[in-house]
Amino acid sequence: MNSGSNTKTILFWFSIILLGIMLWKLVSNKGPSADSVSYSDFLQLVGKNEIPDARIYLEPNSVTVNAARRNSQRHVATTLSYGDLQDLKERLIDSGAKVEYANQRSGDWVLLLLNGMPLLLLVGFCLFLMRQMRSRGAQALATRGPGVRFGLGYDLHRLDAGRPFIVGGVEIPFDKGPLGHSDGDVLAHAICDAVLGAAGAGDIGTLFPDTDPQWKGVSSLIFLEQLAKVLQDRKQSIGYIDAVVITEKPKLGPHFAAMKATLAKSLKIKPEQISLKAKTNEGVDAIGRGEAIAAHVVATLVSC
Ligand SMILES: [Zn+2]
Repeated sequence: MNSGSNTKTILFWFSIILLGIMLWKLVSNKGPSADSVSYSDFLQLVGKNEIPDARIYLEPNSVTVNAARRNSQRHVATTLSYGDLQDLKERLIDSGAKVEYANQRSGDWVLLLLNGMPLLLLVGFCLFLMRQMRSRGAQALATRGPGVRFGLGYDLHRLDAGRPFIVGGVEIPFDKGPLGHSDGDVLAHAICDAVLGAAGAGDIGTLFPDTDPQWKGVSSLIFLEQLAKVLQDRKQSIGYIDAVVITEKPKLGPHFAAMKATLAKSLKIKPEQISLKAKTNEGVDAIGRGEAIAAHVVATLVSC
């Protein structure tokens, strides 16, 4: 439900409550407004034939009479006991006045309902507001999720003699380099997969297929730059990136600062949002023999 229809609904309920209050005021009045007079004064008016029309209200413990006054816009009202009612009625009839009984208020369920209507409407309005707030909370959770999303990325490339050794967008002097359709930057590729995974937007192979000639030999930083648009469409941004690069040689630690700066620039984040670690494979397997390089990355995305 958008805010426009919310405002309309609230205005509708507000009008209903106002209407209820007006109705309540109307029925809770004892007939037309009248000047209060004592019972003896009222009897004198009856005696002088000044009362052409009287309306009798039976209250639980007394009787109220609201009467029109001849040659006057104002009504008069008086209260008497049940014991005096018969006598008054006879006097009124004798004087030629029209006598009418109004419904007894306490026994009339319609009047009771109308009296209780403002309260009922207020309770209904409060329940309606509570339901709106609850459904809005559930909607926010459903559309935005828990707020933080995680993604995992992994990549491995063979190392071939004569290729430039590029990791995290930085070229490091070495006699071998990763083999790949692009520059074979395992760290950039694993970051790309981690971010796409957290965004729920597929993986690097789907977005930048290695069969597409436009990606042949390009810097993998281009892939990272493309992520900004993917995240913008999904109203997400990168929270943090933690990475491990596994290679037997060369030493990567001295190049971490340059890698963080380069990656952060392409990802449009701060270098402090990136953590880099390096491991060897203790001489075991292909990586241990210096035949390959691999990277593991975890990325968190936050809702904008
Ligand atoms: Zn790769």
